[in-house]
Amino acid sequence: MNDIIMVTGGAGYIGSHVVKLLLEKKQKVFIFDNLSAGHNQVLEFFKKTYGADADSFIFINADTLDEEGLRKAIDSVRKNHWISGIIDFAAKIAVGESQQKPLDYFTTNVVGFRNLLMATDHIPLVKSSTAAAYGSPLEEDIPLKESVIPKMIAAKRYDRSQLLPASVPFETLIEWYTKEVVEKYPFFYLDKADLEFLHIPVNVYGVTKVICEIMLKKHEKEAGRKHMALRYFNAAGADPSGLIGEDHIPETHLVPLVLKAAMGKVKCITVFGDDYDTPDGTCIRDYISVMDLADVHIIALNYIIKGGGSRTYNLGTNNGQTVMQIIEAAKKVTGRNIPVEMSGRREGDPTALVADASLIKKELGWKAKRGIDEIVSSAWKWHSSHPDGYK
Ligand code: UDP
Repeated sequence: MNDIIMVTGGAGYIGSHVVKLLLEKKQKVFIFDNLSAGHNQVLEFFKKTYGADADSFIFINADTLDEEGLRKAIDSVRKNHWISGIIDFAAKIAVGESQQKPLDYFTTNVVGFRNLLMATDHIPLVKSSTAAAYGSPLEEDIPLKESVIPKMIAAKRYDRSQLLPASVPFETLIEWYTKEVVEKYPFFYLDKADLEFLHIPVNVYGVTKVICEIMLKKHEKEAGRKHMALRYFNAAGADPSGLIGEDHIPETHLVPLVLKAAMGKVKCITVFGDDYDTPDGTCIRDYISVMDLADVHIIALNYIIKGGGSRTYNLGTNNGQTVMQIIEAAKKVTGRNIPVEMSGRREGDPTALVADASLIKKELGWKAKRGIDEIVSSAWKWHSSHPDGYK
């Protein structure tokens, strides 16, 4: 029996770049996606480039929220394959939207993840997590090391939730978790240290991702599941072919919106806040190439498949760019004027998030290779050749 790697959300932005790389390495892939954010055209591209379904990849259109459908899909793949690892991208990802629609985010990101864990025994799993786990860190803690979380907790900076005004209080999120997860599977209970960690994120999206990190630790204790939680900073850019790229509906991310403004697809780029405590007043983020992310997911999965221990790592570049610096980089790459409009702060946005990514370098030997110009150029190749995305 041949092995196969399951990629949930494999028709989405980061997922499709990981799947492409796996297929290039002649690794068979099982793409599980409900196409709510993923694209049929990505699957068509894979088919055309790497061969029909059965030869290179299996696609099943289903939702992690459908427990029975999920189990059936896994059983059907297992008839002919051995699932050697899972890379899980199935999640809702827009910070602003998570503040408005917390139940949607909780359901997809937490209940869907519960179902995936319970349906896949102890198969090694790589989980996309996020820099939003660090909440709104102090300047002295940037660049952020993974070890800053226990330090933050020990300093008692987080004796209550930091959740910014959302349409639900923090306590309700914990009630939902207790009802949907702990009451069904008591080993997922939250202890004092877990609750302290959950107090750090400033938005609902971040809370749901930290819940998943905590669930992974509990599942390892209960079922011996090896895992990697990868905290991405800001994923951006595209495959150098320009054939796949970022296409969210609606688009909320900075790099694609800046390039859409360069193309005249949107009237201007709205800068959310110029009164932050940064050199030009706009927020600082650590932009990491989706190609670097694709590389490291495969390295991380191989590490746990081969018996390495579970880990949590930052994925970033150790460098931060302000919103205005991204706009300048895009002007340089595109040679076009980019109209800018200043506006107020966006709810839930921390001032600065920059990774100290030295731990993964030390332990797995991985380091991001691509800089901001390469990120913006690759994104431009995709957007300028697909002005309406996959449509
Ligand atoms: N941003 C902005 N205008 C936009 C979209 C984003 O000024 O139209 C800013 C946002 O406030 C943040 C940074 O760009 O400081 C990156 O935002 P994005 O949504 O791309 O990623 P996030 O950091 O929220 O994951």
